[in-house]
Amino acid sequence: MVLPASGFDGAGASIMRNFACLFRTTGLGVIVMMLCVGAAVCAELSTPVHKPVAVVLVLRDGQRINGVVTAFNEEGFTLEDDEGSAHEVSWPALRAKQVYSLHQMLLKPGSGPKWMAVGHLLRTLPDGWKWSNFAFGRAAKLDPSLKSRVRELVRQKPPRRNADGTAKSYVEHDTRGKRPATTSPSPPVGLTSGNALGGGGLTGAAPPWPGLTRDDHDRAIEQAKAFAERAHLQVSGRLAFYETRYFLFFTDLNRDEALKWQALLDRMYDRMCEMFAVKRGTNIWRGKASVYVFRSDDDYRKFEQTLFNTPAENTAGRCHANSRGDVTIAFYRQLDEKTFANILVHEATHGFLHRYRTAVHVQSWANEGLAEWIAADLVPQSQTPKARRSRANQMLRQWRNLGPDFFTTPQIAGDQYGIAYTFTAFLISADRSGYVKFINGCKDGLDSVRSLEKAYGVPVEDIVAAYGRSMGVGHLSIAP
Ligand SMILES: [Zn+2]
Repeated sequence: MVLPASGFDGAGASIMRNFACLFRTTGLGVIVMMLCVGAAVCAELSTPVHKPVAVVLVLRDGQRINGVVTAFNEEGFTLEDDEGSAHEVSWPALRAKQVYSLHQMLLKPGSGPKWMAVGHLLRTLPDGWKWSNFAFGRAAKLDPSLKSRVRELVRQKPPRRNADGTAKSYVEHDTRGKRPATTSPSPPVGLTSGNALGGGGLTGAAPPWPGLTRDDHDRAIEQAKAFAERAHLQVSGRLAFYETRYFLFFTDLNRDEALKWQALLDRMYDRMCEMFAVKRGTNIWRGKASVYVFRSDDDYRKFEQTLFNTPAENTAGRCHANSRGDVTIAFYRQLDEKTFANILVHEATHGFLHRYRTAVHVQSWANEGLAEWIAADLVPQSQTPKARRSRANQMLRQWRNLGPDFFTTPQIAGDQYGIAYTFTAFLISADRSGYVKFINGCKDGLDSVRSLEKAYGVPVEDIVAAYGRSMGVGHLSIAP
């Protein structure tokens, strides 16, 4: 494989979001559990806290959480609970006042640029305007050279908001000069000549992914190829390279197999575009998404450890997606072809959802549910959807609810995958355009329950009860 060997600056500057799907198989070879470590922020890529900060916080939805904050970045923070388990919490889950106070504790005292970043983060929160001005004020105090910029920012008027707290318009963070940019969809240029925002303009506070020029795309592709060159040299030595319109595919499988999996990825891409009304021919990626498929699980694990510094024991595949917009998916080839196809589509769906519309992370239940639904749709021969449905039936009858923290947990449990899948299937079959509105609402920054109620026009309790009836379970409630 001949690939350019320079220019890759790694993912070190950005924040990674990993989806690692763990599979266990029974003697019959049927998947019985899959656990995605969604929303995980790689420790080496976020800012570690030198002295862990103990906190008790109340989330926007009223849930109380406590533990010690061990790392943080622009997307959220890692909270370690009493039992030593780490949880990723995104900043929008907290009220703005708490986001501000927590940064006071974490930055101590911080620097001008760091507080500027906090200010911009706060401006994306529905109740964050006042607090963003405090943050900008701090920035100017720490770095007097920022004073005139801060004066300009503080003079700006807060956006008018809808009743649900979403912004009617939002002045872009870093507008230089006098011309304010709003989040009205501005189609990116170059390869991304279509509309990656999907049907319906942005309605929330979250800004769209930045537009990319053809040069930006070309540079990203070169970086991805240089990264692959490192993988080729340090991991496998047998990687061949294939390129489709939207994917860079690196594999040591034979050519026929490689072509088959590439075609499946392209079908997944088209299916997602069709579902979310992304204009045909739009490239939603930054450059292209990189997909690695290794013949051996040892090579896959070596790749994860060497290139991403991530242990991958007990995982079958992983989607790395960072805040810069890069998406890299890695797997090893499962013996069962249909199982492998299911995993491939599942992980690639996470990648697509990351790059769709805005950088906001879609809540775990909805993310996993959609990944499962698309995988079931494109690989109907796989045993996985059947196993998921049967597990959902079993758990719903046992629990009479959706299981612990279904709508709020940063990562649903293995037993909740079947519920997430069948609930998503129910939502799509009940009202497909409502479902698209729901995902759009999530990507625009709405909490998933709020977005669900807004898109379907009924209280979430009624939606869950109707889902329960569709599964033959009466009086299904949300939580235990
Ligand atoms: Zn997943």
